[in-house]
Amino acid sequence: MNLRNPKSKLLLGPGPSNADPRVLRALSEPTIGHLDPDFVKIMDETTDLLRYVFQTANQLTIPISGTGSAGMETAIVNSIEPGDKAIICVAGVFGERMVDVAERSGAVVVRVDGPWGSIVDPEDVRKAIKENPDAKIIGIVHAETSTGVLQPLEDIASMAHENGMRIVVDAVTSLGGVKVPVDELELDFVYSGTQKCLSCPPGLAPVTVGPRALDFIKNRETKCQSWYLDLAMISRYWGSERFYHHTAPVNMIYALNEALRIIKEEGLESRWARHQLNQQALMTGLEAMGMKLVVEPDYRLPSLTTVYLPDDADDALVRSRLLKEYDIEIGAALGEFKGRVWRIGLMGTNSTKGNVVTFLAALEDVLTSVGAKINPGVGLQAASAVYR
Ligand SMILES: *Cc1c(COP(=O)(O)O)cnc(C)c1O
Repeated sequence: MNLRNPKSKLLLGPGPSNADPRVLRALSEPTIGHLDPDFVKIMDETTDLLRYVFQTANQLTIPISGTGSAGMETAIVNSIEPGDKAIICVAGVFGERMVDVAERSGAVVVRVDGPWGSIVDPEDVRKAIKENPDAKIIGIVHAETSTGVLQPLEDIASMAHENGMRIVVDAVTSLGGVKVPVDELELDFVYSGTQKCLSCPPGLAPVTVGPRALDFIKNRETKCQSWYLDLAMISRYWGSERFYHHTAPVNMIYALNEALRIIKEEGLESRWARHQLNQQALMTGLEAMGMKLVVEPDYRLPSLTTVYLPDDADDALVRSRLLKEYDIEIGAALGEFKGRVWRIGLMGTNSTKGNVVTFLAALEDVLTSVGAKINPGVGLQAASAVYR
């Protein structure tokens, strides 16, 4: 058996999501030198497209070599010097991870916690700022993939700036699916990943660096804690100097370039609307079947839906049958939600009416056959009504 010839599956979990076929073809184009003049043109076009998707004029807008987590680490090590104070908002796994990364990078971390399945309250952030006026950054997750919450950023961004702090934003599961208002809110450092709403395989972490954050990078007193992720050096490769730092993952940059072109062809606004509509249909179908959504309506993340398991459904059994019988992957939950909640992603290329309908039908079939308490025969109807 050839293990490395996997069949194609529908990836409706928290990531990776399916890569667009055009992106996979781009990956297989001939590898050329990372300083080849032809490659340099592709780099320039890719950063232009990234600025479009991030809606920013930030010059330093580039893909970091590594997955979304490398984006997080890049953001942190390029935003603080050891001993600096960082206020980090935590309402799920990725906020928790940002705390860990910040502590390992030498930050003195002040946590602001929110309940799982909800937002971090801006009033709690205000209090933390008041008690810690010497903090340098506020770290926050825009789209918390462990809970399905979309965190509003407006108030927290303006509080940060009024108090001379920079805001560092995790947009791994929002970029390309949900509006990320980088310049509108003057977000100082935003990072993402290729494998969620950009519909590209895992492997790159787009980042964008605003003027305040760039100023910090240029004037810091100590060297960046990480050699590999030091933007002062990496930016010399992506800028006009083309100074060698590390070999760019050439084919992944082809793939990202194609993924970004696809987004531009569709247009950001249409893409956000598509994510919203398909999630609406999915949620309506799940609710009609009798299931309860985790997040209250105001804070639902269009690219990832969290739902409580119906009574008498076995988490692992249902997910494994969806995978075995239908080639559909959905996500288990983590932390406080483990075993009680499913995470259903409709990200990028995967956010389609066809996938919503296919998934609801498959889920109903599996749930019925395991004897779970659901209302059969109504999920699909309710979902299709949303499209009419
Ligand atoms: C997936 C994810 C990450 C980590 O990305 P990897 O590609 O797994 O390294 C970070 N933050 C959020 C919010 C995510 O959803």
